Amino acid sequence: MYEMCVGPEKAGGALVWHVMAKKAAATLCGEKLRERIEASDGERARHCPDCMASFEKLMAATPC
Ligand SMILES: [Zn+2]
Repeated sequence: MYEMCVGPEKAGGALVWHVMAKKAAATLCGEKLRERIEASDGERARHCPDCMASFEKLMAATPC
């Protein structure tokens, strides 16, 4: 299971939507999100390209 979470793209960066595996310590692109950011703050955020690339690979590799 994966979930989307809003977080900075990198330290001090703009907010983006990361993909995070349930119970994982870090997002697919390796960011460790220290704090939950309210999803409403990310309404206009774009998707993290690194997470999306990893997510697509995972989906291609995992038949479900
Ligand atoms: Zn990411």
